[in-house]
Amino acid sequence: MPGTLLDWRDSSHWSWEQLPCRYCGSPTHLRDSRGKPADKVCAEQALADQAAEAADAYEIGNP
Ligand SMILES: [Zn+2]
Repeated sequence: MPGTLLDWRDSSHWSWEQLPCRYCGSPTHLRDSRGKPADKVCAEQALADQAAEAADAYEIGNP
């Protein structure tokens, strides 16, 4: 799965203001690639889920 991980070292992924994570609701300083509040683990899980759904849709990886 190339290119699925976000670059969390980019300062655009961090804010002084804590906002509820869009996925789990916990306060977080982190922002996803669209600038929405999201934990690193939650955002990466969401990306993994999207990739899995895409794979299912195209039946990639099935024997
Ligand atoms: Zn979260």
